Amino acid sequence: NTSNDSDKTLVDSNNSEKTLPDRVDSIDSTEESLNQSWHRQNSISVALKEWDIPYEDLQFDSIVGKGRFGTVFKGNWHGDVAIKMFDIDTDTKMEQQAAFKMEVSMLKKTRHENLVLFMGACMKTPHLGIVTSYCKLSTLHTHIHQRRESFPMNRTVIISSQIAQGMGYLHARGIVHKDLKSKNIFLESGKVVITDYGLFNFTKLCHDDRHANSLHIPPGWLCYLAPEIMHSLRPGKSKVPDEVPFSTHSDVYAFGTVWYELLTGEWPFRSLPPEAIIWQVGKGIKQSLASMQASRDVKDILMLCWSFKPTDRQDFVSLQRTLERLPKKRLARSPSHPVHLSRSAES
Ligand code: ADP
Ligand code: MG
Repeated sequence: NTSNDSDKTLVDSNNSEKTLPDRVDSIDSTEESLNQSWHRQNSISVALKEWDIPYEDLQFDSIVGKGRFGTVFKGNWHGDVAIKMFDIDTDTKMEQQAAFKMEVSMLKKTRHENLVLFMGACMKTPHLGIVTSYCKLSTLHTHIHQRRESFPMNRTVIISSQIAQGMGYLHARGIVHKDLKSKNIFLESGKVVITDYGLFNFTKLCHDDRHANSLHIPPGWLCYLAPEIMHSLRPGKSKVPDEVPFSTHSDVYAFGTVWYELLTGEWPFRSLPPEAIIWQVGKGIKQSLASMQASRDVKDILMLCWSFKPTDRQDFVSLQRTLERLPKKRLARSPSHPVHLSRSAES
């Protein structure tokens, strides 16, 4: 079965031990390992061929926006599509192409209602890009932070359990999202669609190359990062995306933040400068929930997702069960009770 064979070669940086072919430990096995590596690369290329979309076949209609990845276009390829074209660095073009193929080899095995449909990719430099279905409606970010909509509790729970379902599926497939945030979650006629999973390794990290010691952090991004990731963000440390300790547990931390946004309409640590957020979260300090109008079980989910120790965080399968058990009647947030910051974890 070819699809099983190609699946064996799919590699995730956080999961490479499990997905790589058995390692050859003998000292004079260099040639053999090179051979294996060549076969692995080759089988990835063969498996990827059917997902290759020639750049010329794509019709680019308009720019939707620019993110850390590059530029997203609305376009046409047998219907409306979103085309994500990546900015590539000419110095390391071959490495980037190889890293890109690795990431694409993971995307092609995702099929879930709550994940954006991966349709194919342009895989030849300088045109590296990903083609997915086009999400016509708005992101959770737009609903919550721009339109200032508040969702009743039953809706909040439905949205969150759909996110947990999509994320649980990704994790079961050995894929860590690494960039779960309300901007990467679309609401399409009541259905959650998660985008941008597994692409982080390929993108430039949050260090500004021109100023080696200064952090270049997109606004609103820090509050999704778990303490163990904050530790790797200190200036001058870890410029290689592979070294950032993303894991299924750090995805759960990010989910906690999305749950908080849904409940309160705000980001945690909203009024703090980036350095203070990095310091506080790195020390294990959490956003206080003291003035949040929600029941104990709702707050418990937040506290569990935001646990300092990665393995103390619930996984998405049990999170979903917890969410399903929540009473769905109460209102999620009370605009008259803003949430305040404090150093205590809870009170
Ligand atoms: P970010 O996730 O930080 O907003 P992106 O580069 O992922 O940055 O996205 C840039 C813009 O393109 C955003 O406005 C985003 O909502 C939009 N976008 C991304 N993917 C899709 C998609 N599949 N369908 C429609 N719009 C999309
Ligand atoms: Mg995005």
